[in-house]
Amino acid sequence: MIDEKLKSVYHDIVSRNPAQQEFHQATREVLESLGPVVAKHPEYLHAKVIQMLAEPERQIIFRVPWADDQGQVHINRGFRIEFNSALGPFKGGLRFHPSVNLGIVKFLGFEQVFKNALTGLPIGGGKGGSDFDPKGRSDAEVMRFCQSFMTELYRHLGEYTDVPAGDIGVGTREIGYLFGQYKRITNRYESAVITGKSTEWGGSQVRTEATGYGAVFFAKEMLEAQNGSIEGKRCIVSGSGNVAIYAIEKLHQLGAIVVACSDSDGFIHDPAGIDLDLLKQVKSVERQRLTTYAERRGGVTHHPAGSVWSIPAEVVFPCATQNELSGRDAASLAKNGCIAVVEGANMPCTAAAIDVFRENGILFGPAKAANAGGVATSALEMQQNASRDSWEFHYTEDRLAKIMSNIHDTCLSTADEFGRPGDYVTGANVAGFKRVAAAMMAFGLV
Ligand code: NDP
Repeated sequence: MIDEKLKSVYHDIVSRNPAQQEFHQATREVLESLGPVVAKHPEYLHAKVIQMLAEPERQIIFRVPWADDQGQVHINRGFRIEFNSALGPFKGGLRFHPSVNLGIVKFLGFEQVFKNALTGLPIGGGKGGSDFDPKGRSDAEVMRFCQSFMTELYRHLGEYTDVPAGDIGVGTREIGYLFGQYKRITNRYESAVITGKSTEWGGSQVRTEATGYGAVFFAKEMLEAQNGSIEGKRCIVSGSGNVAIYAIEKLHQLGAIVVACSDSDGFIHDPAGIDLDLLKQVKSVERQRLTTYAERRGGVTHHPAGSVWSIPAEVVFPCATQNELSGRDAASLAKNGCIAVVEGANMPCTAAAIDVFRENGILFGPAKAANAGGVATSALEMQQNASRDSWEFHYTEDRLAKIMSNIHDTCLSTADEFGRPGDYVTGANVAGFKRVAAAMMAFGLV
């Protein structure tokens, strides 16, 4: 429920941003957490900090023309939402997926502001992308698209201004083409203008693994806070992209067993535990579908329809995309004995699903907190670039684990302080909000 004092703020957001459902969903969730904060700190209401926070500092929408291998012309749309720079340069990934539109980029950018604040690092929030679909495109086509995209975007970027990274459909290959074009146009080797780079040319160790590993570190903290353990738990990880693959890797390293994962064509059930080498080969190297995984490995079933959440598991990690876990899926997880849900993707659980988790006492780790390991490690990448240094894998992973542990503790103590003990959603929203709001109040009306 949104507090009476904040209802008009929410109605204004909805009427000023029509047809942006995902953005409404994301702002609503934050506003539902802020009631106890404005009761304690009415100054935020007087200064209209929440309204300022819901309005991006700058929104850039541009045309991206490119030609495919047959010489046929395509026109895509590019976006960059520079949401909030109170704590540092705008920071957040680029998503290439046909579903990308203004409402999706804005919800992602809004979430990013709070997430980045929670890391405790000096980074603002932003997000961008395009409705371009890299699936089935040759390397040369992806390169031409990335070059056209950056030919417009470069003028808005800079290591002190706006620093993009990857997201759905944007991995090391795309980051390489984007950085190459930026370098060519600006004639500057400005490493820290983009993160998620290959470790061969300025990327950080552990950045590739960071979001998935970080989500598992967060889950481990959540279970340990209840005197439990991740070891031996049966898990589901949805998706089979960057976040999912490294969540599975860390879960296996910690002695959990992942029995199912998915892609946009269905899901696989592998009761013996996912064969990670095979999964990486099929999805990351060959860029094939999960049907190929099922063909090459015995004892696996592939389900083109139905829900991955129908499989019994104790701890689950939605790591594919927004709103992929519904209220009905949540009810099925509860019935099958699920004890914890940890979001690796951004806003993968619907509001109805989160209600079901609360009603059934299922621990819930929201994306802002649980998947912050990716952007936190991006900030570590910027730090290494600035000092022309590169850190070793274990040192960097240690830093990541400590950051996740701090975020976990901050969420719990903030939830306690604001009267909702154990509620990680409130903890994450309020702690992130307070840090950004303090900086915004200090800067005045800018
Ligand atoms: P990838 O593109 O590497 O992987 C995405 C995976 O999700 C793929 O397996 C894809 O299937 C599947 N997927 C995408 N859209 C859908 C859909 N509509 N229905 C079903 N499955 C779908 O992206 P990432 O792993 O990088 O990102 C996954 C999520 O994590 C996103 O929400 C992203 O915003 C979030 N995130 C990512 C971070 C990062 O560091 N990469 C940081 C923080 C959050 P297919 O193979 O068929 O395309």
